[in-house]
Amino acid sequence: MDSEILKELKTTCEGWRDTVEGLTEGSLIWCEECGDFSPVKGGRCENCCGLLDDGDEFATLWDLDAKVKILDITYRVGQNKKFLNGEICVGSGGPSIYIDTHEEAVCGYWGGDTYKACLSKSAVEAVNEMLEELYNN
Ligand SMILES: [Zn+2]
Repeated sequence: MDSEILKELKTTCEGWRDTVEGLTEGSLIWCEECGDFSPVKGGRCENCCGLLDDGDEFATLWDLDAKVKILDITYRVGQNKKFLNGEICVGSGGPSIYIDTHEEAVCGYWGGDTYKACLSKSAVEAVNEMLEELYNN
């Protein structure tokens, strides 16, 4: 049986996985009410049912930093200093969460527990493209 910590770690990692996938697909908006990225249904936030402004646009991966704050980014580069892949830290301490394009997953660490929620190929590519742009600028 999974410990409570592992269960919570799993939920957190899978939540982040869904967020990254949704931001890649362009199916999420930022909901001020929830203070989170949320799916939309009939002009309302699917999480809190709050009515959305007409101006609400679908969020992209670039909104991650503006809305949730990227804590740190680690870039992996080759010997020629060319960007290969990297990881975005979006949580630290309890638990630590990384969107990792080398592992192709959202990786979570909490105490001695670890959990990996795999990302789709298109999400990995989209995150990696963003990281490469950040690295080169
Ligand atoms: Zn909401």
